[in-house]
Amino acid sequence: MSVIDEVTSANDQYADGFTKGDLPMPPGRRFAVVTCMDARLDPAKFLGLEEGDAHVIRNAGGLVNDETIRSLVISHHLLGTQEAIVIGHTDCGMLTFTNDDLHGKLGPESESIDFQPFPDVDARVRQSVATIQSAPLLPDSYAATGFVYDVTTGKLNAV
Ligand code: ZN
Repeated sequence: MSVIDEVTSANDQYADGFTKGDLPMPPGRRFAVVTCMDARLDPAKFLGLEEGDAHVIRNAGGLVNDETIRSLVISHHLLGTQEAIVIGHTDCGMLTFTNDDLHGKLGPESESIDFQPFPDVDARVRQSVATIQSAPLLPDSYAATGFVYDVTTGKLNAV
């Protein structure tokens, strides 16, 4: 069975039991989550989210960068979220390489790209929270809180 067969089969089952076709666009619980794309993290499960509850913005590392701020500005100003939860995690792949490593592996075409690796998850989460708090297009009332998810226990720890 190919990946496409697997996911379309799973979706057939999901759609068969689907009863949430009338949810409004704005997230009902009025918050956004920023977290890593790591396959071991399932924010809906570990945060108790249902469809329609929250925006979940994911990228390699769960970084708050210009692209994340773009999403959060839309999330707040157009869709009513009032706070963001930034979640890094233990054993993150972004700890395992440097820009020089990846530039060496991928060659000259990659050298203009900052892949934004980091050596310390707690510090990077704190930096991301500070980036949200100082973003000129998000109001002072827009809260940001940081956590590190432990992939060995499933537990969130505040940073
Ligand atoms: Zn990660």
